[in-house]
Amino acid sequence: GSTIGILGGGQLGRMLALAAANMGYRVHILAPEDELPAGDVAAEVTRADYTDRAALDAFAASVDVATYEFENIDVDAVCYLSERVPVLPHPRALEVAQDRLAEKRFVADLGGSPAPYRAVDSLADLEAAFGALGSLVLKTRRMGYDGKGQARVRHVEDCAAAWEAIAHAPAVAEALVAFDCEFSVVLARGADGAVAVYECPDNRHDAGVLGESVVPGGAIVAAQAPAAVALARRVADALDYVGVLTLEFFASAEGPVFNEMAPRVHNSGHWTIEGARASQFENHIRAICGLPLGSPALTAPGVRMRNLLGDDVHDWATILADPAAHLHLYGKSEVKPGRKMGHVTWLD
Ligand code: ATP
Ligand code: MG
Ligand code: MG
Repeated sequence: GSTIGILGGGQLGRMLALAAANMGYRVHILAPEDELPAGDVAAEVTRADYTDRAALDAFAASVDVATYEFENIDVDAVCYLSERVPVLPHPRALEVAQDRLAEKRFVADLGGSPAPYRAVDSLADLEAAFGALGSLVLKTRRMGYDGKGQARVRHVEDCAAAWEAIAHAPAVAEALVAFDCEFSVVLARGADGAVAVYECPDNRHDAGVLGESVVPGGAIVAAQAPAAVALARRVADALDYVGVLTLEFFASAEGPVFNEMAPRVHNSGHWTIEGARASQFENHIRAICGLPLGSPALTAPGVRMRNLLGDDVHDWATILADPAAHLHLYGKSEVKPGRKMGHVTWLD
């Protein structure tokens, strides 16, 4: 049997490892954290920093192909690894997706429409951006997730506090988009260039964190999905992408506004575990192993996924008694507000 290496040990790695195990692969996780939801279900775990060259050497020697479940990994480390063992998606995808400025430029060059934006490297830049854009969201270029590393500016007097809030990090200011709803494109691209596109979920966020994904989305999502899917395909082709790729959009009166991309399986695709013939996790494993992709078709007319965040604990017996519900818990012991502890998927 072959061994798949995964950089990152969170719940995405855990669900990838479970899908890999179903297909007979061994999984080796490399990640620095003490608590590794993915480590619980993997054959092998290396606790090391991603930049630890000796650990990367040993990791490369122990796996047949490597992937990542987290985009904020040092690109040089991933390139180092890719000189020793195939890494998919190619490190180039990681390089583009981990810098919001590079990402917006890359997607705009392919015909996508991000919200109007300005690079911000100083308080003066931010004040100038506010003058040009009006109400805006200030985001660090790197390392943000779940709404972390962001601050909103609605009045020019908010600029100083926002610049403090992101600790003067290189940033991008983007116009606040008045959107009808948010949706994402989750697709898998195989090594042969074949693409499987999932139904676009309607994503509901709360304080920057995904709360729910509903499939199919409403009429607005249906109307804007084709252009968004076409863009996502162009992005995937341009990166010679292999694996699952996600693009997030705001559905606005002017059409789909590109928000950000993730070079990995995505929270808004968790519904595919029960709600699609082949899940995003299975298709990611198939893609990086050079196998044909599975069908993204729905298994039910409607699917809803809700995240279990922080101490949003439930009466598990009630959820488990509902035959339409599928409960997933990630085995995390430390509860923090907004932390993703699990999710529930309901098939309609
Ligand atoms: P993720 O966990 O999805 O990677 P993130 O930290 O990268 O999150 P974003 O996706 O940039 O954050 O923003 C989080 C949420 O904040 C968005 O889904 C949206 O609800 C809101 N948001 C972000 N940017 C804007 C904007 N320009 N206009 C309006 N709302 C926005
Ligand atoms: Mg993000
Ligand atoms: Mg996002």
